[in-house]
This record gives sequence, structure tokens and C-alpha cells, in this order.
Amino acid sequence: MSFQTLSNLQFDFEIIHKINESKEIKKEQIFELIEDVPKQVIFETASKLRDKNKGRVVSFSKKAFFNIINLCRDTCSYCTYKAEPDDTKLSLMDEQTVKKLAELAKKYNCTEALFVTGERPEQKYQEAKEWLRKQGFSSTTEYLIHCSEIVLKQGVFPHTNAGNLTKNEMKELAKTNVSMGVMLENSSVRLREDGMPHQDAPSKEPLARLNILKNAGELKIPMTTGILVGIGETLEECIQSIYDIKKIHQRYGNIQEIILQNFHPKPKTSMFEHSTPEESYFKMVVALCRIIMPDANIQIPPNLSPDNYNEFLSVGINDWGGISPITSDYVNPEFSWPNIQNVEKKCGNLGFSLKARFPVYPEFVPLINNDLKQRISLIADEKNYVKESYWK
Ligand code: SF4
Repeated sequence: MSFQTLSNLQFDFEIIHKINESKEIKKEQIFELIEDVPKQVIFETASKLRDKNKGRVVSFSKKAFFNIINLCRDTCSYCTYKAEPDDTKLSLMDEQTVKKLAELAKKYNCTEALFVTGERPEQKYQEAKEWLRKQGFSSTTEYLIHCSEIVLKQGVFPHTNAGNLTKNEMKELAKTNVSMGVMLENSSVRLREDGMPHQDAPSKEPLARLNILKNAGELKIPMTTGILVGIGETLEECIQSIYDIKKIHQRYGNIQEIILQNFHPKPKTSMFEHSTPEESYFKMVVALCRIIMPDANIQIPPNLSPDNYNEFLSVGINDWGGISPITSDYVNPEFSWPNIQNVEKKCGNLGFSLKARFPVYPEFVPLINNDLKQRISLIADEKNYVKESYWK
């Protein structure tokens, strides 16, 4: 059956009517949808929903990646970001290095300072504890608060992704961070069992992660979260994870973005033999995410799918996440960032306009404090995107 024929059939499905009318779709109905409706119709429906709710605009954030401390208390079976104290890739960014990178970021008109650390390194490594003490701080979070102040002074906006922060820590960081991030990865406790990817990562306990999103909601912090797809979960577990995120957003209105990241096996990890998820499976997760949360900002990282932008634009994404003209992706160092002009050109060829956003999405700017709002207004256009004259 041709694509066109399938497409014409969509009006025969009651569920598709409901989705097109932006009606609330229950989890059981999503299972029926997968069961009854051809894949291509689901994809096309998701794409239309994106057009309806977000238009033909795809955003990105021009960023610099600050690899603050890559020691980590936990061990996830797929991770190569985490270093050991004697590794050549060990990163301990002192204040001077942070300042210099912030200056460079400003020079390149980046608007995001992405701060990344491992999970509470000082709890496991004496080296981290000692290094932080020498910088004048007793914890990674204290140091992140200080670094955030430094980069904000330069006119670059911090977005911290440092694992399981406490509510008080988040409250302090929110003074300078326009948004924060923590990946849910998946809300299935099964992935914490023996032999599963989060067996040795207590910080990835789903309830702990969901609690952080809730705390952020109570503090009105715009949060980025997401799912890592292809690590041994089932499609049902992905669907449940999206509903868990949705529940928090319905209650607090603070989930600014959902990242859907496709797993890639890395050398020297115990999941090296594990394959990447099938593209059609990944696309189904993306499409269902759009259908479950029609007006969410849905991102896939462009460097992890460099050759198939159209595949993902055609299932409902509206954001490429952070793209850095000056630093590597330290989480996926084997995948370099695309050139921003090329991304713009490719999007244009597919009928989309590319817009630069701040690390806080335009519609979430009302949540941030007045000082941050005022700083953003200096380089924002009338819709709270970054002015073209600034980022181009
Ligand atoms: S993914 Fe994060 S929590 Fe897991 S080992 Fe890597 S740095 Fe640590």
C-alpha cells in the first residue's frame, strides 16, 4: 500500500480523529493506536501535530559545553563521559578556565553555558573533594553556583545538568540559571536490576529523578528532561516514562523540553556489544511523545543523527538542542556538532526555519526571575528568541 493511500486512510481511525482534535489521549488508547494504526499514519499525524502546535520552526541553542568535573559517584553501563582520576580525559575546570571559556563563548555570541558534572564526585573521590577544597568550596554544587555567577556576568546564560540536586541546591542555582536539566532516562525500575544499565547508578532510581522534576516544579524552574532510547527498555516503558513526565508538567507547568536520545554503544563500556535502536523504533518513540504531549518542545540531538534530519522532523520534533561552535560534546565525543549554517540550510530545504533560542524556551521565560529576564531582554527579539542579528 502506498504512503499516499495510507495517508488517506487515517480518517477511518477514530483515535486519529481524537488526536487531530487535540483531545487527551489515554495510555490504553496509545497501545490501541500502535496495535491498530499503520506506522506511517502515526508518523504523519505526529508531524501535523507539530505543525499545528509549533509551526514550521525548529530551534536550537548556541552553546558552550563546560565540562566542570567528570568524576562520578555512579556507573551507568553505557557512559563514557565519566572519568577516573588517572584518565587523560579527566576534566577539572578551575575558575580561570571557566572564565576564559565564558569569554570565548561571549566572543562567539553563544547564549548558553551548559554546565555538566558527574553525580556528586566528592562523595566517592578524595581527589575531587581535595580539588574542590583547594578552589575554596566544599561541594560540587557550591562550585557550580560560583561558576554560574562568573558566566552570567559575561552575558552567557547558565543551564546546569549535575544529576540529583537537592531542592535547596536548585533554589540557589535558580538565581543564575535560566533553566536546569536532569534526564529521567526511563521511569522503569527494571533498568536498575542486576545486569541492567543502571544497576550501579543509584542516582538513576526513577523515583529520585521524578522527585527532582517535581521539586523543580514547586520552585517554578524550567526543566529539561528526557529519555534515553535503546538501553534495554520496552516501548511500553518509554510510553510510561512520557506519561510520568506529562503528569509532572500538568501539575507544575515546568517541563520546558523533552530530549529523546538514541543510544549509541561506546568502546570500553559494558554495553559495547548492545546495538543502537532500530530507526523505526526510535521514530515511533518520537512520534508518540508528540501525540502524548502535543505542545511540548521535543528535541533530538543533531549530532547523534547527522544524516537523517528529515526522518525526525517528519515525526514531530521541533528542536535540535545545544549546538556548540567552540567545544565538543563531552558526553558523545565521537559525534561532532554540525555547522550551524549547514543545519539552517538543511532545515530550510525541508521547509523549516531555524531559530536560536536561549537555554530557556521562549514560553518559559515568564518563570525566571526578573534579573535574568532583564538580561535576556537585551538580546531577545519580540518573541523571546535570540535576535538574529546577535547569533548569526
Ligand atoms: S551517565 Fe551520568 S550518572 Fe551515569 S556514570 Fe555517566 S556521569 Fe555518572
